Amino acid sequence: MSDNKVKELQETLGFCTKNGGKTLKIEEIHAADTYCEGYKAFLDDAKTEREAVKAAVVLAEKNGFIPFVPGKKVAPGDKIYLNNRDKALILAVIGEKPLAEGASIAVAHIDSPRLDLKPNPLYEDSELAYFDTHYYGGIKKYQWTATPMALHGVVVKKDGTKVEVKIGEDNTDPVFCITDLLPHLGQEQMKRTASDVVKGEDLNLLIGSRPLPDTDGDNLTKLHILQLLNEKYGITEADFLSAELQIVPAFGARDLGLDRSMIGAYGHDDRVCAYPALTALLENPHPTYTAITVLADKEEIGSDGNTGMQSAFLPYFFEDLAAVSGTTGRQILSRSLCLSADVNAAFDPIYPEVMVKANSCQFNRGVCITKYTGARGKSGTSDASAEYMALIRRLLDQNEVLWQIGELGRVDAGGGGTVAKYIANLNVDTVDLGVPVLSMHAPFEVVSKIDVYMAHRAFSALFSR
Ligand code: MN
Ligand code: MN
Repeated sequence: MSDNKVKELQETLGFCTKNGGKTLKIEEIHAADTYCEGYKAFLDDAKTEREAVKAAVVLAEKNGFIPFVPGKKVAPGDKIYLNNRDKALILAVIGEKPLAEGASIAVAHIDSPRLDLKPNPLYEDSELAYFDTHYYGGIKKYQWTATPMALHGVVVKKDGTKVEVKIGEDNTDPVFCITDLLPHLGQEQMKRTASDVVKGEDLNLLIGSRPLPDTDGDNLTKLHILQLLNEKYGITEADFLSAELQIVPAFGARDLGLDRSMIGAYGHDDRVCAYPALTALLENPHPTYTAITVLADKEEIGSDGNTGMQSAFLPYFFEDLAAVSGTTGRQILSRSLCLSADVNAAFDPIYPEVMVKANSCQFNRGVCITKYTGARGKSGTSDASAEYMALIRRLLDQNEVLWQIGELGRVDAGGGGTVAKYIANLNVDTVDLGVPVLSMHAPFEVVSKIDVYMAHRAFSALFSR
């Protein structure tokens, strides 16, 4: 057999993914780079779920979306959104087909691993002032020390007035950090296992060092901080109890690599799917099936709570939509298709031992379809059906979307989950599809620009079916 014939057989009979950097037309690579400029701006604008909702609503309203009013009839082409407590968002464009025939749904999450302030966070030790924190989501705690941090969030005073806080993002702002032990004195610390090198209770944010001048008494550094906070925000120490203050890395998104082919940033998981799921919806004013993007909160801590995907707010929305469309919520859901838009771990050649290459996603090979997540013997996953996998393959190929597949690492190496199972539990055909990420859950995560763009193309394909 000739070399050419072998190559032809390999291509027709084998499953090979392609590196988009090699195979895509130059215009498409440029389109990816251009698209990612918008994504980087979104990343810098939306480091918390509240900021992501705010940024998404601004973009949606610019595109003609208006708040959904239960009981008010909807018609094809209507663009509506439902803001759930400023922390989760459902956006929909009503399709030509009756809602009873189902919808196209993309669900991404907009919360990311970070450090939350404790309810009573402010304290002084050895004349230094600190915020005590409680980490949110799965983190390697040692990664969060000795790096500049910003403070984001809201404080709601007893009378209900809300104060928004964002310190550390402007170049003229101060930043904060969690200090680490110098190597010279770290001999005992370095003998601990990595999960214990920095302990949960060591994640204390340094926020001040100068005592209130010309005053006698104890804890004057803390008092000084309280005074500054009171002057700037009108808050007192008890107001921390009714606050959601989050510590996130203080740096912005940057091009990564001499070839600028990647983006390094905080919070790609899962804004790297949330942004494409949003832009794909905004760009499709006349879908055949009703197109819906859900931006969910609380994924990183199990999707519990009234803004997470285990909440009834999504099925309630479908019931309200059904009530004005002459159908039922369960009818819409049962005939809908969903892409659970979440990231997967990209193959990292520095740590090949936790992955099987043929079943891992790689940079520049497009969006990753993850048939199932979970741990051990597929515990805790919805595992998409063969029929639905075939439909998604067809959809992506018809729309020339570069795609690949991946498991979350080697069997028994660990595991994880996404919101896919909560949507699937509502009797919706659902599969995970998202962008490969390196250094997932670290303060600085990395993605490939081609893959981000292909996520946008994939959600566009779903919404234009
Ligand atoms: Mn995620
Ligand atoms: Mn995650």
